[in-house]
Amino acid sequence: MGRQIRDAAMGAPYIRRMNRPRPSGKRVRVVLLTQVIGPLDYRLPDWMEADVGSAVVVPLGPRKMVGVIWDDGVFGDEAVEEHRLRNVLEVIDVPPIKRGLRRLVDWVADYYLSNHAAVLRMVISSSAALSAGGTVTEYRPSGIEPARLTPQRAAALDALVDVQGLVRELAEQAGVSEGVIRGLVKVGALEPVTVSIDAPFAAPDPEHHRPELSDLQEAAAGVMRDAVKQGAFEPIVLDGVTGSGKTETYFEAVAEALKTGKQVLVLLPEIALTQPFLQRFEARFGVEPATWHSGMKQSQRRRVWRGVAEGRVQVVAGARSALFLPFANPGLIVVDEAHEISFKQEDGVRYHARDVAVMRGKFEGFPVVLASATPALESRHMVSIGRYKGLEIPSRFGAAKMPRIEAIDLTQDQPERGHWIAPTLLKALEERLERGEQSLLFLNRRGYAPLTLCRNCGHRFECPNCTAWMVEHRLVRRLACHHCGHVMPPPDACPECSAEDSLVPCGPGVERICDEVQRMLPEARTIVATSDTLWSPEKAAEFVALVENKAVDIIIGTQLVTKGYHFPELTLVGVIDADLGLEGGDLRAAERTFQQIAQAAGRAGRAEKPGEVFIQTRNPSHPVIAALVEGDRDAFYDAETAQRRRAGAPPFGRFAAIIISSEDEREAIEAARAIGGSAPEIEGMHVYGPAPAPLAMLRGRHRQRLLVHAQRSVELQNIMREWLGGLQFPRGVRVGVDVDPYSFL
Ligand code: ADP
Ligand code: ZN
Repeated sequence: MGRQIRDAAMGAPYIRRMNRPRPSGKRVRVVLLTQVIGPLDYRLPDWMEADVGSAVVVPLGPRKMVGVIWDDGVFGDEAVEEHRLRNVLEVIDVPPIKRGLRRLVDWVADYYLSNHAAVLRMVISSSAALSAGGTVTEYRPSGIEPARLTPQRAAALDALVDVQGLVRELAEQAGVSEGVIRGLVKVGALEPVTVSIDAPFAAPDPEHHRPELSDLQEAAAGVMRDAVKQGAFEPIVLDGVTGSGKTETYFEAVAEALKTGKQVLVLLPEIALTQPFLQRFEARFGVEPATWHSGMKQSQRRRVWRGVAEGRVQVVAGARSALFLPFANPGLIVVDEAHEISFKQEDGVRYHARDVAVMRGKFEGFPVVLASATPALESRHMVSIGRYKGLEIPSRFGAAKMPRIEAIDLTQDQPERGHWIAPTLLKALEERLERGEQSLLFLNRRGYAPLTLCRNCGHRFECPNCTAWMVEHRLVRRLACHHCGHVMPPPDACPECSAEDSLVPCGPGVERICDEVQRMLPEARTIVATSDTLWSPEKAAEFVALVENKAVDIIIGTQLVTKGYHFPELTLVGVIDADLGLEGGDLRAAERTFQQIAQAAGRAGRAEKPGEVFIQTRNPSHPVIAALVEGDRDAFYDAETAQRRRAGAPPFGRFAAIIISSEDEREAIEAARAIGGSAPEIEGMHVYGPAPAPLAMLRGRHRQRLLVHAQRSVELQNIMREWLGGLQFPRGVRVGVDVDPYSFL
């Protein structure tokens, strides 16, 4: 048949040859992985076998593309005429994407105003997933010293102790070129290892080690077990105070799913959470679960993806992207620490994993558990209106009691000049040291100081690419932009006035607090715990081991250490600056501050020894601080809910942000004005802006924002699709839509 039918999709001319027989086959609609126009129709020849959901190779113009058969049959008016259809070229040998997941992709594309291809790429997230099985060759250090040890080779070998991977992966890990790695292979310093891509997975055993549950835990576990047994959609908010044993409790639901041969996904917010989680999982079920996160190698991705699709993997613990894995037989999703805003993806398809998890349960018919000690206001609201089931574990497990919480009024109980730890907190730290107990100081600021300026001329160090200060990281001697990653060494002289040694740090970051602790309590053993220091599961595991082995007295950390960890000897938590989060004033500032401090406080006194928490603030009567001190969570949530209701803010109304960016400021402004100017007048909907975004410049692009506020009854997505779809922009302009935004920068 060759080129008889050309380019149906592209609308190129069709040349009809009367004497050729009509090819026979079935019309199928295919969503391609790499394009932005809608699904295209093809013919599946009779001799080819494929189901709806099968991955296929199809022609597009002169190219071959991978896609998934989304539907078959005849579809409305725009359908390409029968004789113009081009044939599917090949069916790829992977299990078809099931109907529920296809519907989820449709829903995500629709709801978040994205396109099918972009969402489907999150499902087929690894090209290796589709390649044929077999083996790959990885490399690892052989222990042989190369005869010629260049500094680069030495550095690479240093970085690759205990590492194994493809040449590309090793180069990335070691921060050298692939040429350096290949050179090391050649001289025998790295040896080849043949790896089967699809090695089997060990099966978790639901009976391996069942803990005795408390009555409170058992009550909640029973409900979740029943929901799994029912095998029907049911969203459940598992609301248990810190230390109540939520993990042990939802593990019972996991066990139930395993017994009935169903697969389970546990979504976790951060990479650092993974290691302690894996250990606990292994203690309960005998083996570690499969994991899924951005740091995985291609071979690992393929193995897990295939195992999930073929039903050989029973439990996956993963970051939010695991949500789109093609489970053969899913029976439960648990979203752990479900209030975490890191579940919201902020680039590409801007989706919220918590909400998408619930939709997945709906489409595929299974319960979804949202576990948290500080549930999102939205989740609590769904419980209160009866849409989600609410389960509570109101007290800590065993002998542990909730910690005593006290506010330190920084206007009264003042730290020394140039210090940030108030005398009361310092004394409490000293007492812990004497008793051999551990403390945590919480400050949600990485680095040494958030701002550096010149004492002589007042010059402030700003990122050249972003509207942001360069943050000093003293441990690695760098100034870094936390938005784009731009780094520079701290200069010896001010670039503005050339004064030497004139740079002063302003304000504290965790490193500076650590300095202060070391100065005031020289005998204390300290550790800084942030995403800079705990950037891999291995680093996180090291950290946990150090704390558990009591090699550390005082942890100084960001929000990264405030959740998930369970350190029995940790009895004191100090919140350095509770006012920090309240300053931003965005929609969720109060809620987020409440959650962060409650989670940080939740690390104290989790075993027999009682815990104590000090919250440093300039405003002890602020409702957030007052609620934390009183331990009156409901009062806080109720007040916050009432305020949201009055403002028509989520969950009572909806927002969508439109972010326009361009390297050319004029172009960005004009595009934003065009969008603002063409906004439809709809009752119950209001458009704010355009205005320069608070982060007016990001990665070298100028940014403008509009904010759409709508009542729930407004069909926001349809309106916005029509509105924005009718506009054209210059090539350099990017227009992104953020439905249900969490960031207002
Ligand atoms: P949460 O996640 O609710 O803050 P965890 O799940 O971390 O609480 O539980 C706190 C501690 O109590 C953990 O060390 C956990 O292993 C232990 N624990 C909880 N429930 C039980 C139980 N039923 N039997 C034994 N240990 C438990
Ligand atoms: Zn920057």
